[in-house]
Amino acid sequence: MIEDYHKLAEQCTFCGACAEVCPFFTATNDIKYGAMAKVEAARRLFSGEPLTDEDLKTIFLCTRCDECHKACPLNIPISVVIQGARAELRKINRVPEKYNTIADAIIKMGSPMAAPPEKRLAYIPEDFKPPERARYLYVPGCWSGIRLPETARASVELLMRSGLDFTVLGDREWCCGLFLIDTGMLREARMLAEKNTALFESTGAETVVTECPSCHDVFKNVYPKLFREPKYKVIHISELLRDLLRDGRLKVRQSGRRIAYKDPCPLVRRNGVEEAPREILSRVAELVEYNRKGWDALCCGAPAGVKPVYPEIAGRLAEMLIEEPARKGADIGVGCVFCMYHMGGFTKPSSPKIKTLSQIVLENLVE
Ligand code: SF4
Ligand code: SF4
Repeated sequence: MIEDYHKLAEQCTFCGACAEVCPFFTATNDIKYGAMAKVEAARRLFSGEPLTDEDLKTIFLCTRCDECHKACPLNIPISVVIQGARAELRKINRVPEKYNTIADAIIKMGSPMAAPPEKRLAYIPEDFKPPERARYLYVPGCWSGIRLPETARASVELLMRSGLDFTVLGDREWCCGLFLIDTGMLREARMLAEKNTALFESTGAETVVTECPSCHDVFKNVYPKLFREPKYKVIHISELLRDLLRDGRLKVRQSGRRIAYKDPCPLVRRNGVEEAPREILSRVAELVEYNRKGWDALCCGAPAGVKPVYPEIAGRLAEMLIEEPARKGADIGVGCVFCMYHMGGFTKPSSPKIKTLSQIVLENLVE
């Protein structure tokens, strides 16, 4: 995947259409953090001009959520320009130190949190012995499998209850490398693409099911560009749960609750998965929508290094995403465990409860 970043940025006419588009404009109401300011800073960087601290800040304040792409009349993929700018800044040692810490953790330890591999065993129920080969491979990803293992366990319990022929990798699982991709480390990401593709294929799985919408996007869309097409197809857990519910292999009851669905950016904007999570939630609750939903959903503000480098600004978006369902008297169903982890850091005892789709289905399962 060789992108001519400079050429992409050069196409920009500074028309202003994306100037006030960006979750970080929404969070700060400051045009310095809108998408156009980011393209402008990247273009000066590519031209060899010196950058100010504010220029660097706006380049690092990007989750690569792709909200701005719809705004651009020239279809400039602004998140790709940002990826290139970060790669360029890495070459001249001007990325935040936390970028290096996270990248090292992924490359050497297999997760952004540098967890020992055995941490990935905590989500596996004692009565599940993962077979070596199966038709489906469930991959929870780092945030679900390591940081919030109860979320991955809920999915595994549902798959067990449905009778699906599936397996998991446990302590052999390795990070998808999203952070490396978001920060322009494509050579290192390609090594993970090779490693993970071979590992997944060794299980003989026809379908890889991800808990994480970013793993889903990386395995499905990025690895084939970095390495090659895999022998399996890739789906998100919401697509599998929808089918298991439709087929009657899982049965649920209505809970009487109101639940707002938070669309994950890569799932909805890069992969168009919008209806499956809503169909699942509608079976167990009254579905409540955010004012900004589907393709226009507001990013949680955490990915691509924003949460560790600018936690307060990332937190403002999390608070907005908690306050709206609270006003509407709804709990929150998420399609992304990283959204859940981030938003969960800003809840109070009176806040809406945040659960994954699998947790919500499991709570309302009929024997
Ligand atoms: S990709 Fe998202 S975070 Fe990045 S500039 Fe565009 S809207 Fe902002
Ligand atoms: S909308 Fe496109 S052309 Fe206009 S300022 Fe943004 S990136 Fe440039």
